[in-house]
Amino acid sequence: MARVLLQNIWKRYPGDVVAVKNFNLDIQDKEFVVFVGPSGCGKTTTLRMVAGLEDITEGDLYIGDRRVNDVAPKDRDIAMVFQNYALYPHMTVYQNMAFGLKLRKFPKAEIDRRVREAARILDIEHLLDRKPKALSGGQRQRVALGRAIVREPQVFLMDEPLSNLDAKLRVQMRAEIRKLHQRIQTTTIYVTHDQTEAMTMGDRIVVMRDGVIQQVATPQEVYNHPVNMFVAGFIGSPAMNFLRGELVEEGGSIYFRAPEISIRLPEGRYPALRQAGVIRKPVVLGIRPEDLHEDEVFQATYPEGTITGRVEVVEHMGSELYLHFTKGGQPIVARVSARFDPRPGSEVKLTMDMNKLHIFDAETEQAVG
Ligand code: ATP
Repeated sequence: MARVLLQNIWKRYPGDVVAVKNFNLDIQDKEFVVFVGPSGCGKTTTLRMVAGLEDITEGDLYIGDRRVNDVAPKDRDIAMVFQNYALYPHMTVYQNMAFGLKLRKFPKAEIDRRVREAARILDIEHLLDRKPKALSGGQRQRVALGRAIVREPQVFLMDEPLSNLDAKLRVQMRAEIRKLHQRIQTTTIYVTHDQTEAMTMGDRIVVMRDGVIQQVATPQEVYNHPVNMFVAGFIGSPAMNFLRGELVEEGGSIYFRAPEISIRLPEGRYPALRQAGVIRKPVVLGIRPEDLHEDEVFQATYPEGTITGRVEVVEHMGSELYLHFTKGGQPIVARVSARFDPRPGSEVKLTMDMNKLHIFDAETEQAVG
């Protein structure tokens, strides 16, 4: 069992810095969990507390059934993979991978078995006699992973392991780490500031901000049901559009009103909106760029969600386009098929998918209904 349980964990640094605030998370055996958030949100500090490289100021940390707050890093049965690989330059790939086991006095035959097995899994068998300087960035990262795998730990901890690789290799290694996890199924905590990495790799993702967990859920849940504006804006690219306005109730209908925009909201939303007490209050309407549609079928389905705008910039992304326009002084981006290719300056009609609207309380920034 390699469940990792963090209960009411706090980290305070000298000088009144609270890096992690009351962090609670139950990571299941075999789970791949990603900590994601902007720089300084406390994800590395949390990972380092799990590793034992930082003291825990307050709270309880369990790995398996053991409370490990006071257990030395080497006795926690974890293996860490860092961004800078940290390979020994004077050793071969084989020696780099064998080093940790040798220190722990494993028998030679067992070391050899584990190194060759890991090399096979990572497809680096042909590189075992090379020194790190004769390897590409991706190969070095594989060796760093290999060094973690041979330990056969209960938990892998990975801190931005792909950030030194170029964009193409990052995409490739992202898939390889997922495949590796499917194969060996070791519980993994993975830290990144890259929301795409989080979305594509995590069974669950933990979105953090200023030392506080904002949301813990599957990537789909976080994407489709962000709990607040921070999560909604952080996850997804291009980012969700936010339109500031207010909710008005007229003749039994609830409208979102902003300069040049009036949208009758779907009735299914009314009970939650009324209960949240946001009628006649400032709200923010969120709509993802891909939920603005140019096609007539959508316009016929949701005439009440159709807005017109003058295109200011068209960004060509290959199979799709990003259209930038302004409505009542508020910028909007739509992500549409490249078949629809309006000229800058022309008028376009775009329809919101009314099932994909998000409404946030402008004051608390929390999602409401
Ligand atoms: P990044 O992606 O930049 O690594 P992060 O989310 O991993 O960011 P942390 O490195 O965990 O963030 O830092 C969280 C907060 O704790 C930051 O405000 C940081 O300045 C502070 N911090 C980190 N280490 C120390 C330290 N040794 N002493 C004081 N403050 C620290």
